[in-house]
Amino acid sequence: MKPEKSSSKLLEVKKAQEIIFSNFSKLDSIDMPLIDSQNFVLSKDIVAPFDLPEKDNSAMDGFAVKHEDIIDKKITELEVIGRVGAENRSEIFLNTGQAIRIMTGGEIPKGADSVIPFENTDSGPMRGLDYPKKVTINASVNLGDNIRKAGLDYKKDSLVLRAGALLTPPALGVIASFGISNVPVIRKPVISVISTGNEVVMPGDDRKPGQIYDSNSFIISSAIKEAGGEVNLLNIVGDRKEDIESAILSCSMSDLIISIGGVSKGDFDLIKDVLLEKGEINFWGINMKPGKPLAFGSLNLEGDNVFQIGLPGNPVSAYVCFELFVRPIILKMKGVQEIMRRKIKARVTEDIVNYDGRRMYTRVKIFEKDNEFIAEIYNNQNSNILSSLVFADGLAICTEDCKVVKSGNELEVILLRG
Ligand code: AMP
Ligand code: MG
Repeated sequence: MKPEKSSSKLLEVKKAQEIIFSNFSKLDSIDMPLIDSQNFVLSKDIVAPFDLPEKDNSAMDGFAVKHEDIIDKKITELEVIGRVGAENRSEIFLNTGQAIRIMTGGEIPKGADSVIPFENTDSGPMRGLDYPKKVTINASVNLGDNIRKAGLDYKKDSLVLRAGALLTPPALGVIASFGISNVPVIRKPVISVISTGNEVVMPGDDRKPGQIYDSNSFIISSAIKEAGGEVNLLNIVGDRKEDIESAILSCSMSDLIISIGGVSKGDFDLIKDVLLEKGEINFWGINMKPGKPLAFGSLNLEGDNVFQIGLPGNPVSAYVCFELFVRPIILKMKGVQEIMRRKIKARVTEDIVNYDGRRMYTRVKIFEKDNEFIAEIYNNQNSNILSSLVFADGLAICTEDCKVVKSGNELEVILLRG
């Protein structure tokens, strides 16, 4: 991997995305119990093994009849010759002047062509084995009414779900209705997460004066899970090169390593040193705000090339970088087609000033007013302000070339939810 740029020039966001995205592709297929397969991507087509529904069946609780027996007659009395529940097959043949009690889902008996609901008869639900042997029909239906035809939903051998389909709850239901209990899916990427910093402590652990609790591990790990990745969360590593090295070298089984912190220009920012010594840096530094110091590189771990993304330590920077660079590659590895978040246009509620020509991702909350989207800007946009992340459901993009966006003007906004 050749460095794409001299270290003095910041890379544009689009270029950085192109480089990172191009290094990841769909992972291998595994067999998965259907019950666990939600949000995975199907890796092979599913073809209907039989018609669905399999047989013509009743859409109502009522009576299966011959339409010619009831047509044009206001009131008809028919002989009831049997009963079919949802689970029963219909062995009986219906002759002229006859009806069969039939429950929703019950197979339509041969000779019947319509179902009269209970509401159109003098009968209703009956408990027990006995039922009246006569029924009076007091309102007719059209020919074929209340019959669900075999194959109406899916025809045998037709394509049910294409490879690449996301397994949503309804998709799981359809697959289950064909009796399929295991599905081929693209496996989840395993992402190792390493928080760094002498000052960072796990919630629940003892804290010395000056130390802060680790929020990044929680933001990033849960965002990985939300995107459908599997997290390998390592212990927090102090700012010591050997410790960072041994943590990274223990991640050989990962599809991606994410380190957090230690990637800026500080005296104790050692992630780049480790990447340079143990692997290669593709780029460091993106022309964006927040998130400028992101680093992308790779390491040879036990013969495998494993990529590492070094996220900045400030929580807002880490999260914005995750959204722009990490979430899309998790989705790409999972085989999802649409890897980018949805964008909308929204009017900002305050001026945004872009001082240094970087691409700015402003934390906003979106609401609708008079058929327009409004982006309410959070009052503190610093990269350490966690409340801005809690507040925001969107990132309004102020481009590199835009010096000021006046209140009321429209900006493109990346939607962070849904
Ligand atoms: P760094 O990128 O390591 O220079 O960190 C930048 C800022 O982010 C510093 O104020 C750190 O204390 C803070 N920081 C780094 N890691 C974390 C973390 N895991 N949780 C919360 N804050 C952090
Ligand atoms: Mg640090």
